[in-house]
Amino acid sequence: MTIQIPFDNSYAELPERFYARLDPTPVAEPALIALNDALARDLGLDADALKSPAGVQVLAGNMVPPGADPLAQAYAGHQFGGWSPQLGDGRAILLGEVISANGLRHDIQLKGSGRTPFSRMGDGRAWLGPVIREYIVSEAMHALGIPTTRALAAVATGETVLRETPLPGAVLTRVASSHIRVGTFQYFAARQDKDALKELTDHVIARHYPDAGTALEMLERVIAAQARLVAQWMGVGFIHGVMNTDNTHIAGETIDYGPCAFMDRYHPETVYSSIDQFGRYAYARQPEIAVWNLAQLATALLPLIDEDQDRAIEMATEAVHRFPGLYSEAWLAVFRPKLGLTTAEPGDAQLIETLLSRMSALGADFTNTFRGLADGSARGRFADPDGFDAWAADWRARMGRETADEAVRIETMRRANPAVIPRNHRVEEAISAAVAGDFGPFRALMGALVRPWDDPSGEGVRFTRPPEPGQEVRQTFCGT
Ligand code: AMP
Ligand code: MG
Repeated sequence: MTIQIPFDNSYAELPERFYARLDPTPVAEPALIALNDALARDLGLDADALKSPAGVQVLAGNMVPPGADPLAQAYAGHQFGGWSPQLGDGRAILLGEVISANGLRHDIQLKGSGRTPFSRMGDGRAWLGPVIREYIVSEAMHALGIPTTRALAAVATGETVLRETPLPGAVLTRVASSHIRVGTFQYFAARQDKDALKELTDHVIARHYPDAGTALEMLERVIAAQARLVAQWMGVGFIHGVMNTDNTHIAGETIDYGPCAFMDRYHPETVYSSIDQFGRYAYARQPEIAVWNLAQLATALLPLIDEDQDRAIEMATEAVHRFPGLYSEAWLAVFRPKLGLTTAEPGDAQLIETLLSRMSALGADFTNTFRGLADGSARGRFADPDGFDAWAADWRARMGRETADEAVRIETMRRANPAVIPRNHRVEEAISAAVAGDFGPFRALMGALVRPWDDPSGEGVRFTRPPEPGQEVRQTFCGT
């Protein structure tokens, strides 16, 4: 049986210096861990065929299906502010692209598929932990309505990957609208390859921003997309953890789930990543880091913006300076419904900020406090409920000026404040069990995460609970 995937590859048409063509490296004994039926269906792929032995061979990188044009993409990037001129897909291979029924183009990429010319010191492999983590968190993000890369499948390789200890290997099939990053532009800008920059810009405009006519207009669209994305992260307490420019997606999707985490107790300075010593990528710093990353994109695009570089700098700077306004607007659009507000008043930002500052002072659980606003249980989330009462009086006064009736306001809150997020201790629990060969906890967690707005019943209720003191996960690690 051969697996039929209707590939339509556009990145492979770009000049050779954009990538390295090579096949994935086969693995010893592929076994399917998970296949995302709903996503397969949306992509117009045959889920049952992908689950068959031949399908699993494809998802493991052991068999290259007809029409695929496997390649590893070149890119550069700033990592924690330091410049790396040559990164690229060191452990990922793009099989090709497919166009779904709605006309959208999607990359099908294998992550953990063996060494490439961009692997540097790495082995090109992934271990099961980061594969399970990315599968869980990216699909949870999608269910929450936040732009993200997706997980089509996870397979075990039957091979051991050496990290600090020997660990089971795995391959993730990642789906994205593209894998083009700010760092892809930086790669060519650093080489002063203006022709490549132009081709990449044309490709991105055609693919992601068809209404943009120029590099400057594309930059403006990317800035707006990133402002919306980061505001959405803030609304669910998500901390990306490695907002490097090579992890900044050009179409504003969340990409590269390494040491990412959803906060339990709210504090703006929260950091989970073990390597983020100075809190560069702390929760509350995400908007300013996004600006920093977008300024790098703007710099890379200068040669295309205007022949006169002073003029180009002026225009690019102006575009980047629009981020704070766009972000504030997006942030209000995210947080107003979290408070059940369907109209806008000038004092709303202050009302939201006051709640957040009380939450941080009193260590309230981010997710459950907001969720509790709809059912009246928020007060009980505070160690000191009096602190909540003072705020709630203002909130009720503001609600009194709402035009929507109470049922609408409650439904608004229930659709803006998830009951279920991938809490760290549950993600870790799913990973530990998977490493021991039990995928039950992973499946149970996924079952709850795909319906984040519903209150789970029975056993599922545990996924809504913050960690007990002994369960708390304070540190997360890079996905290598
Ligand atoms: P990340 O931290 O996942 O954004 O990765 C940063 C860079 O390191 C990218 O160029 C990756 O392809 C590369 N990389 C990460 N892990 C590995 C690995 N195990 N083998 C080869 N390259 C890797
Ligand atoms: Mg990356």
